Amino acid sequence: MFSDPVAKEILGALSAERVRRTVETITENIPTRLAGSENGRRMAEFTARVLTEVGAAGRVVNLPGLVSFPGEGRLKLDGEIFTGSTLGQSAPSIPGGTAGRLVDVGPGDARALAEAARRLGQEDLTGCLLLSDLASHPPRQEKLRLAQAAGAVGCVMMNFGPDDGTAIPFGSVKAAWGNPEAGNYAAEVPSIPAIGLSRRDGTALRVQLASNAPEGRIEAEVENDWREIQITLGEIASGQASEFVLVGGHQDSWFGPQATDNAAGTACILEIARVFAPHSDRLLRGLVFGCWQGHETGTMIGSSWIADQEWDRLSRGAVAYLQIDEPGCVGTTRWDVSSNAELRAFHEEIEDELLDGRARIWRKAAKMGDASFLGLGIPMIAAQGGFTDEEIAKAGSRGWWHHSVHNTIDKLDWDEVALHLRLYAGYLWRLCTVPILPYRFAPAAAALTEAIDTLPDAPMGIDTRRLGQAAWHLAGLLGRVDARLAAVGKSAAVADNRAAKINDLVRHIARELVPLSTTVAGRYGQDPYGYSPLAAPIPAIAGLAELEAIAEGEPRLLALTRLRRARNRVADAVSEAAFFAELLLGELD
Ligand SMILES: [Zn+2]
Repeated sequence: MFSDPVAKEILGALSAERVRRTVETITENIPTRLAGSENGRRMAEFTARVLTEVGAAGRVVNLPGLVSFPGEGRLKLDGEIFTGSTLGQSAPSIPGGTAGRLVDVGPGDARALAEAARRLGQEDLTGCLLLSDLASHPPRQEKLRLAQAAGAVGCVMMNFGPDDGTAIPFGSVKAAWGNPEAGNYAAEVPSIPAIGLSRRDGTALRVQLASNAPEGRIEAEVENDWREIQITLGEIASGQASEFVLVGGHQDSWFGPQATDNAAGTACILEIARVFAPHSDRLLRGLVFGCWQGHETGTMIGSSWIADQEWDRLSRGAVAYLQIDEPGCVGTTRWDVSSNAELRAFHEEIEDELLDGRARIWRKAAKMGDASFLGLGIPMIAAQGGFTDEEIAKAGSRGWWHHSVHNTIDKLDWDEVALHLRLYAGYLWRLCTVPILPYRFAPAAAALTEAIDTLPDAPMGIDTRRLGQAAWHLAGLLGRVDARLAAVGKSAAVADNRAAKINDLVRHIARELVPLSTTVAGRYGQDPYGYSPLAAPIPAIAGLAELEAIAEGEPRLLALTRLRRARNRVADAVSEAAFFAELLLGELD
């Protein structure tokens, strides 16, 4: 497939050296790119200018964003002062510091919080300061959300990395995805202070906290406010169709000359635009580029704003979202991909061709990074080098420098960047040139039937049996769809109008299935960052299996109301997908 002369030319034209020069320009001239700051605006203008220069029509879009400018954070305990950072979107501490008993809650997930409360002999963690570990799941936004819901008055989060590490962590703790609305403000925008400490300090504290929960005090300096922020859009139109592939990554950053996260990804996007632009006449689908902001200090403001603002166009025309964040880090030796099951076979075939045979890790696309388009049903790929198990055991899932001032240009490996560029361009070339969309549905259908089959029969009267029957019916249809899509995909020529009809129906099926496997909020909302139920195969009905374990009375009744409605949403999506699958089979016969 990459024997096509234009594909060869594109892959051959990619230059890691150009990416290196762009990263140098960004990190030297526009270090510290906080959304809503002067440098945030300069960065957006820079990427718009480069996109225009390479023929991808760059433009800056202004939008309002609830962003954060955090300063130093301190913990005072037994006369000692531990100094670190205030985490992004933390609430400021109260005058004199926010005081409470400091409790080690390990990973800070719901189970750990319940155990800690039990150890203290309390119903919840009202009045406590919680020490949690950034090396462990869930992400810091979810740690904060759970802590706040459990009554904690503040959070202290210790960095990942080696136990004697002195790097101070940066990061947002706002779970609300994008700008908040009235309905999620109280639960998902922090109302308590949160600070980050080095792993060395956190490790010392843990020893102190093993036997008691002493009174501590945290001081958090931060300014949270609505500001005008900027994102950059660019486009290479195909001239042939309204369909396009969305390529995005954040261009804002933390303090310092942040290189890997994500000057590198931004520079890769600019390089990809440069090599594709001269070949727009060969593309059956266009490319739309998004350099987001408000990713770090705002939690995905830019990408979620575009999801809402460009809804009609995205819903009709976007066929996939490729996210580029932190490519080419030194020490990475694996290829880590998060994607929707619908695209897995597609990208693995390209990895077979273009990767150097290294180990690959696949995960279901998660609500992390700028995954703002899952509700829209746009399948995504987020791929980059990953660390070995040994490295992860030492430093967490990313390098020890990640989200700190040490995230400098020496943390980039230019051979890795060259490889990343080839893979990204390979994904995009094929997504933009195959006549029939390369989705496959059987894996998603199998996950769906398996998840429903393992549910109890009619828990608390909720009808799971008919849901299971409908899912099996859909799986049968989608098995046949896949076989015929593979056959028609191999045929040399498909008439344009026939391809358009097939692709329309393929997209409609994905619009139903993708939100089903990746959202609780569904099509129009945005789940909070790192939201725990999203790990389930059908997140909307996560908890249905444990319904009878919830305390009797109001807690169970509240869950029952929500889950009965969620079950109906699943049933509707299954039947809509089956409707489109039948139409598609008619078209493919
Ligand atoms: Zn990033």
